Amino acid sequence: MSHIADTIHRLHEELPENVKLVAVSKFHPAEAVAEAYAAGQRVFGESRPQELSAKIVALREMAASSGAPEMYSDIEWHFIGHLQTNKLKLVLPYVAMVESVDSLRLLSAVDGWGAANGKVTDVLLEYHIASEETKQGFSREEILDIVSGPGFRNVRIRGLMGMATFTDDEEVIRADFARLMSLYDEIVRLRDAGLCPVAGPDFDVRSFGMTHDYRIAVAMGADVVRIGTLIFGERV
Ligand SMILES: *Cc1c(COP(=O)(O)O)cnc(C)c1O
Repeated sequence: MSHIADTIHRLHEELPENVKLVAVSKFHPAEAVAEAYAAGQRVFGESRPQELSAKIVALREMAASSGAPEMYSDIEWHFIGHLQTNKLKLVLPYVAMVESVDSLRLLSAVDGWGAANGKVTDVLLEYHIASEETKQGFSREEILDIVSGPGFRNVRIRGLMGMATFTDDEEVIRADFARLMSLYDEIVRLRDAGLCPVAGPDFDVRSFGMTHDYRIAVAMGADVVRIGTLIFGERV
């Protein structure tokens, strides 16, 4: 069995039933997605708009030429990278979720695109939990501002996404993840007290954990883990 199929099978066995695996296929070809798909994986993550739309086209062609045009059409795509507002049309028609909303400007643009195109987009707010300056995302205060605001007609805020500090120190990783869990719980409490109309009953997603820290993430309560390198190998 190929490494990809083998790893997908192992992860499906290892992860608790309520944890969704996003297979992060960025920088890997459509053929790698097809292999993971054949092993039963249906949720994939991409971080660059052009790459996402090119891969969708390639998969469509692969499906058509294999005589099964519907194959791959049940893939659930998650966008997990930095999204510029001028690239929305390459991404929003195809994705089930944008996990990486990191500015109010982007949130408004996704809402505006949805109004013009008749689509409500599920999003996560990216919370900056790492100690590196470079990782994008909102501060706690910014997120609390957004969820206590008036909300958006064409955007459903489904939860929080975060990336821990890149380190081997498990204590640091745990502290980063704990901040995300604590803000999530705070929002749920506000919602349940009626103070947070933007977070509806479907505010229920905590997306954290990648190749080197997904086991910690699962133990700490992640509902979504995003795993690339472990499944597909090093990115080239
Ligand atoms: C690339 C990426 C991942 C996957 O990282 P791996 O270490 O390869 O598992 C997960 N989340 C985001 C936001 C990413 O950009």
